[in-house]
Amino acid sequence: MAKYSSKINKIRTFALSLIFIGFIIMYIGIFFRTSPLIMTFFMLLGVVCIIASTGIYFWIGMLSTKTVQVVCPNCEKTTKVLGRVDMCMYCNEPLTLDPSLEGKEFDQKYNRKSKNIDQ
Ligand SMILES: [Zn+2]
Repeated sequence: MAKYSSKINKIRTFALSLIFIGFIIMYIGIFFRTSPLIMTFFMLLGVVCIIASTGIYFWIGMLSTKTVQVVCPNCEKTTKVLGRVDMCMYCNEPLTLDPSLEGKEFDQKYNRKSKNIDQ
């Protein structure tokens, strides 16, 4: 179970790490301050990472409008479900919106059938 986590949480973690990667890349660039060209390259790369991260945060916002809010049967908190199956954001309880999948073992592949959510 532990290897799955809520999709929105996953994307958010990725966006956050991208910000750190961006700062690390810019920090590396400082070591090349004797060579303005290389330094500029690292700085731009870092900025691109941070801009990409901002874009991902924006994308999460867009995705959030497509999610369905449900009350988790396990921890009774309100969580968001994206796609046919997703995990509870708080306790990682597998949740489904498709009654035909109810009771079946959680499998990430059920999501492949739903369009443009997993890209
Ligand atoms: Zn829960």
